Amino acid sequence: MTEKLFYEHPVITSCEAEVVSCEERNGSYEVVLSRTVIFPEGGGQPADRGTIGGVPVTDAHERGGEVFHICTAPVPVGARVTVTLDTERRLDHSARHTGEHMLSGLAYKLFGAHNVGFHMAEDYATIDLDVFLDNEALSRLEEEANRAVRRDLPVTEVHTDHEGLASYTIRKKADIVSDDIRIVFIGGGEIDSCTCCGTHCAKTGEVGYIRIADAQKYKSGVRIWFSCGAMAVREAAAITRSMTNIARSFSTSREELPAAIRKAQDELGQTKRLLKERTRALCGLIAAGSADEAAVLLRPELSAADVKLLAESLVSANARVALVFGGSEGGACYCAMRREGETMQMNELIKSVNALTGGKGGGSPAFAQGRTDKPVTEELAAIMRDYIKKAM
Ligand SMILES: [Zn+2]
Repeated sequence: MTEKLFYEHPVITSCEAEVVSCEERNGSYEVVLSRTVIFPEGGGQPADRGTIGGVPVTDAHERGGEVFHICTAPVPVGARVTVTLDTERRLDHSARHTGEHMLSGLAYKLFGAHNVGFHMAEDYATIDLDVFLDNEALSRLEEEANRAVRRDLPVTEVHTDHEGLASYTIRKKADIVSDDIRIVFIGGGEIDSCTCCGTHCAKTGEVGYIRIADAQKYKSGVRIWFSCGAMAVREAAAITRSMTNIARSFSTSREELPAAIRKAQDELGQTKRLLKERTRALCGLIAAGSADEAAVLLRPELSAADVKLLAESLVSANARVALVFGGSEGGACYCAMRREGETMQMNELIKSVNALTGGKGGGSPAFAQGRTDKPVTEELAAIMRDYIKKAM
């Protein structure tokens, strides 16, 4: 069984070990050592990285008490090697794992919420709780977690067996029956107590800062995205810089930014309504000036919504059938509409337009629309005008 040095404090960053075995598997090499500082994946925490005799370790798993290190090249069996740890990655994982215990323990104590899921990825970590927490509750949870960070409470552990487990009051018990169950206490159990196989900080102060980044309703509870330590500080600093730049672009302060955004949204809404009214008026004027019963118009300045507005105006005025071409990113959008009582099939008409433009679209006998990547010419409009006149 591999001697596991990864639970020690302060963190052991390297050790000497003997290579017990090395086997090729799927292009990589699975290496077992007499001892290791490299934590294998477990308890929701990803594996450490490091080197064995200079060979990079990209992953590690535990099976039957042995740690299998996934290496990019073979190492000689029986050799004495130096095992080194990617310390930055470990400290980040330990801070996030300890932070996870603190958030989960406090969510249970403050709101009776149980942790029902934990996931730690390279660039984010989530906790799933079975009780929904609103923004006010999440703020309180974050504040209490950071208060516990500042108190620099001890993170301690005891080892027990399955029978001994019953004598401890703990938030979350492992389902496994094992001879060696590890219970981790934060602040002697005041903040949290939980069975766990991950790596942790020695004191809560080492977590540095716990930041709740986002939360979404998840089943009947909530999923919380959080970060800790250096990662949380980097994220908070990046967001502060972004907010400052956005506030400057609105000529306001960060504090006044929400009000400035609401004002800009209101103004944009009013401008859109005004533009629609004016487009409707413009369409009415164009329609009044068109005497054709087969109205085919080419107006590249109009959007897909606008061409429908113009087609409606045309059939309300003199047109029995209207076909309007608008503009669309170098190509064209178009729609066909008939006056009530007309029998020409607009979906069939659009098929003919699609055949000429190489575009796509369809609709009902009363209204159809399409789009093409190619620009539409006056010649094509003239062809369609003749086609509609003959078909009417
Ligand atoms: Zn843990």
